[in-house]
Order: sequence, then C-alpha cells, then structure tokens
Amino acid sequence: LTERGKRIPLDNSPLQIFVKAKKKINDIFGEIEEYVKDTVDYMHEVEKDGKIVNSDQVKNTEEYVGKVHSIRDVLQRDHMKVAFFGRTSNGKSSVINAMLRDKILPSGIGHTTNCFLQVEGSPSDEPYLVLEGSEEHCAVESVGQLAHALCKEKLNESSLVKVYWPKNRCLLLRDDVVFVDSPGVDVTPNLDEWIDKHCLDADVFVLVANAESTLMVTEKNFFHKVSTKLSKPNIFILNNRWDASASEPEFLDQVRKQHQERAVDFLVKELKVCTPREAEERIFFISAKEVLQARMSEGKPISVPLTEGFQTRYFEFQDFEKKFEECISKSAVRTKFEQHSQRGKYIANELRDILEGIYSDALKLKEEKLAERKELNDKINYTEQQLMVVTQEMKKKIHSMVEDVEQRVSKALSE
Ligand code: GDP
Repeated sequence: LTERGKRIPLDNSPLQIFVKAKKKINDIFGEIEEYVKDTVDYMHEVEKDGKIVNSDQVKNTEEYVGKVHSIRDVLQRDHMKVAFFGRTSNGKSSVINAMLRDKILPSGIGHTTNCFLQVEGSPSDEPYLVLEGSEEHCAVESVGQLAHALCKEKLNESSLVKVYWPKNRCLLLRDDVVFVDSPGVDVTPNLDEWIDKHCLDADVFVLVANAESTLMVTEKNFFHKVSTKLSKPNIFILNNRWDASASEPEFLDQVRKQHQERAVDFLVKELKVCTPREAEERIFFISAKEVLQARMSEGKPISVPLTEGFQTRYFEFQDFEKKFEECISKSAVRTKFEQHSQRGKYIANELRDILEGIYSDALKLKEEKLAERKELNDKINYTEQQLMVVTQEMKKKIHSMVEDVEQRVSKALSE
C-alpha cells in the first residue's frame, strides 16, 4: 500500500530488467574503481624504485580514476525516459497521470501544457518543481498549484520544468522511469529544437492520438523528423478517447480497423521503424480519462457511471503498460548500458596491459641483473683459477729454491 492507502501491484514488472541491470553495472563499476585505485597505489610503490615505472605512466593510470568516477556518476543517474507527443488536448497529460495513478500533471481546459514537463522520482517526501536554469526547489502541494506556478512564469515552449514526485508514491517513478510531457505538436515551429533538446535520449515515444479523428500531418511530421535523427525509435500509438466510440457501437469495429490499418502503415511503411507484427504490439485503443478516474477512486465507491466497454478499454490500457514497460526497459538497458560496459571492459583491459607491462619489465630487469651477476661470478672464478695456478707455480719455485739452498748449505757444511 502507498502512503495514501492505494494498492500497488506486486513487484514483477518488466521494469525490473532495467533496475537489476543498473544495479549490476553499478556494482561492476564499483569493482573497477577499486581495481583502478589498487593499481595506482601499486604503481606509486613501484615508482619509488625508479627503474620500472616512470612518472608519466603513473599519471596516465591516475587519469583512469577520474574517468571511472565520472562513468559511475552518469550510471547512478541513468533512467528510462518516455516522451509523450500529440496535438493539444489529445490527452497526453491524462495518459501520464493515469500511468502514474495520480493527478500529477494539470490537464484539461485552461491547463494546456505550454512547455516541456518532466516528472521524475525524488527521494524526498514532498513534491517540488525546478524551473529550467534555476536551482530553486519550488514546493508544489497540488496540481492546482503546479498549474498556477506554470502559468505564472513566462515560459518558452521548448523550456523544461522538472517535477520531482516522491518515489514512495509511485512504482514507475521508483523504478527510474522519467516521463516527459510536451506542448502540442500543433503549436510549435521549433520541432528541431524540441528533438535536439528533449528527444535524443528518450527510450520510448508515445504518440497520443485522438481516436475521434485520424492522424494529422503535424503529428506525422514530428515523428518523421524524430526518425531521421534517431535510428528506429520505439514508438507507441495510443488512440485515446476511445470511450467516445461507445456512443456509436455500430461503427466501433469498422472505425477501429481503419485507425489500426493507418497506424500500422504509418509505423511500418512510412517511418519503417518496425515490422507489421511488431506494430500490432504498439497500437492501443484506450481512454486515459477513464483509467485515471478508476485508479483515483480505487477503494472508494464508484461515483461516475461506467461507460459501455470500460473493462475492455481498461484491460487494453494495462496491456499497453505491460508492453511499454518491456520495451522501455530492454531498450534502455541496451542504449544506456551497452556503451558503458564496453568502456568498462576497455579500461579493465588497459589496466591489465599496464600491469602486464610492469611485470614483463620487472622480469627483464631481473634477467639482466642475473646475467650481470653471472658475468661477475665467471670473472671471479677465472681470477681464482689464475691465482691458484700462480700460487702453485710460486710454491714449486720456492720449494726448489729452498731445496737448492739446503743442498748448498749442506755441501758447504760438509766441506
Ligand atoms: P493534453 O493537452 O494532450 O495534455 O490533454 P489533456 O490530458 O489535458 O486532456 C484534455 C482534455 O481531454 C481534458 O479535459 C481531459 O479530461 C480530456 N480527456 C483526456 N483523455 C480523455 C479520454 O480518454 N476520454 C475523454 N472523453 N476525455 C479525455
């Protein structure tokens, strides 16, 4: 149960793929950091000797400490990012709120999102927002306050306001999913700036379309631009306001089929971002408003009568959430961690090469010393032998001299 007594599903979400991978790669980089530090300490020791390692080599190795540290920094902040696009009032904010199971973003008439809004989890218990270019934490107690704070500021439509929402109030935020709501694609001439600023690191894009009309050129254009800058972006299409179809049940299947075909064509033939089979898993017919209402009133008696087909639409929303979680989690692991793991491998290999270099230099030095010692030994042995020979000869000479003297003396004595 959350603080507000809401039920949270058990933790078997596909987001755990990312969460676990993140923990693992962070642990591995922790070990790499230890390894680098040990290597530097060891090199300092060896440097004292002054023969095997020079100060440049030590300096080079020391640089790895900083490199590994900054990778660890980035890794700790890595998250999965989903960005929502669509025309004004198609229900982008409502979809985000439904997924977050709370009215976090202002939605509805008069609350048009006029800048980029990012919702991410925060460890603090109180929500707050931070405006672009500012460090100040502005407390927000309610959606009304948030809307007010946003209207009060004169914000550029490309600017970003970050909403920090307590992680303990929402499972998706706890698991490092960051949501980005955008102004309607119909209001801006700055699509390029939008993409460069907010989309290049997004793992998943959700196009919130209005099921009451067909996909518009402005919506399509935006995604054409995105797919020129990113290779095969992951795009989901939500046909929102599908509850409106309940009022015309006789056309329901026909309208759905038509929307489905157009959306599949858009993803497969126009954008070429997926296969027809994959596209089937990317297009959903939902009603964000209904899901949000249902989730907000969990545990309370239902106040609004349910529209025909609510249950089916609710299940379809849940199906979307599951497919979305699988997609974002796998994609983020690939895009966020693959490069880092290559880098980690590279650094570990470099360090091994450095240490192996030191080892082989040390071996060489040892062999040289041994060879020097052998040469010296040989010289000593030779000198010793020479000395022996000389000594023997001297001995012999002295001996014969003594004998000679003795003979002479005894001869002289006898005479
Ligand atoms: P945004 O501008 O794309 O963020 O759209 P909002 O989320 O602010 O929604 C605009 C209006 O449409 C609000 O009044 C919502 O209550 C309403 N709305 C959103 N989703 C649905 C839906 O699925 N069905 C119906 N009937 N209304 C919806």
